[in-house]
Amino acid sequence: MIKAIVGANWGDEGKGKITDVFAQEADVVVRFQGGNNAGHTIINEYGKFALHIIPSGIFNEHTTNVIGNGVALNIPALIEEIELVKARYDKPFQLLVSDRAQIVMSYHVRFDELEEQRLSKHAFGSTKSGIAPFYGDKFAKLGFQVAELFDLEHCCQKVDRLLDIKNTMLVHLYKQEPLTKKAIMDELQAHRDMIAPYVGDVIAFLKQAHKDQKTILLEGQLGALRDPDFGIYPYSTSSNTIAPYASVGAGLPVAIDEVWAVTKAYSSAVGAGPFVAELFDEEAHELRERGGDAGEYGAKTGRPRRVGYFDCVATRYGVAVSGATHVVMTNLDVLSFLKEIPIIVGYDTPNFHQDRFPNITRIQHSKPIYNTLPGWEVDITEITDYDDLPKNAKAYVDFIEQQIQVPIHWVSNGPHRRQILKRIK
Ligand code: GDP
Repeated sequence: MIKAIVGANWGDEGKGKITDVFAQEADVVVRFQGGNNAGHTIINEYGKFALHIIPSGIFNEHTTNVIGNGVALNIPALIEEIELVKARYDKPFQLLVSDRAQIVMSYHVRFDELEEQRLSKHAFGSTKSGIAPFYGDKFAKLGFQVAELFDLEHCCQKVDRLLDIKNTMLVHLYKQEPLTKKAIMDELQAHRDMIAPYVGDVIAFLKQAHKDQKTILLEGQLGALRDPDFGIYPYSTSSNTIAPYASVGAGLPVAIDEVWAVTKAYSSAVGAGPFVAELFDEEAHELRERGGDAGEYGAKTGRPRRVGYFDCVATRYGVAVSGATHVVMTNLDVLSFLKEIPIIVGYDTPNFHQDRFPNITRIQHSKPIYNTLPGWEVDITEITDYDDLPKNAKAYVDFIEQQIQVPIHWVSNGPHRRQILKRIK
């Protein structure tokens, strides 16, 4: 059984928690794209963890955690995260890194910072983890796969071409000191030594696991609206976040049985770009402070997230482009303070459909069209059976399900692993 867990929105939907719940019964959890530029928050009996690169199945002894070829692998960040997990979790864990994953180099991070600085007020709000320069190099054939680290002579030949290009930019565009061959070779060697214990042939491993009918989870990062093809490009990330890409980025080229799209009961987004749902001032402040497990602040950067009410237009599109078969709605408990809950049911976009998610040039002119439903105004975090939710909370979920056109199987009513209500059993 292969399941993908992806975000239906702008990221931060609570995928980490949902993967952690699923992972308890999974044999394998695979990260298939992105790098350490976003965070999954997991709260379990060992404490609270913000995982940026380690797959969310790490807290289950029987689960093999895989970093697939589609990931932007920052090796020092991975090792640091392993140490953080080990400090509070003393059981053994299994981690396998694809020999085809490419590595984030320190100059990727530097280029990311320099470009954001150069763009100044037009910056994208990058987390400055080097992700865009990394994927740029991957497709320009300037990157290094993990396997290449084990043949440094081969790497040495590639470095000359790399230096021509990088140093032209560093010196002439950014007015910085050039990189040296020695520094790059030293870094590659250090990366090799750190990653060596974890490297393996992920394609062969996953093929066998699939043949043995293991349960395999493919864990996405960010959300559909950050996909470079289908999202709000260029305010997107640099790797495909949608489920159809999961087979490619994991290294498991077979059909996915179930696609679970995670959506939040309201909207949140970090970074720049069009965000039709955005609220401001007091209304935004209240929702932001009550959101998530400790307010809506980026797991990676601590930046305040932009917030708004649930957006049916964006989420219907988000679940559709991922081919979602199941939806999980998280953070329903956060809305308990509202007397009435507005929901975006359409976009007012000049000369365009109200129910469609517009392209980047149109969306800048879109205004939200709201419907309002009554709130429930009681704490729902202790409820353990979906049927016991207040009538208005269930009506809220029913309404959204009708709008997004994919069944909402589970509802999450708190950040903890146990706070999951199974609506469709
Ligand atoms: P991810 O990147 O999709 O895993 O999402 P994040 O972990 O960045 O953000 C989700 C936030 O919501 C985290 O603070 C979670 O602890 C929190 N969270 C997840 N599900 C729920 C829920 O049902 N209710 C509340 N209050 N918080 C939740």
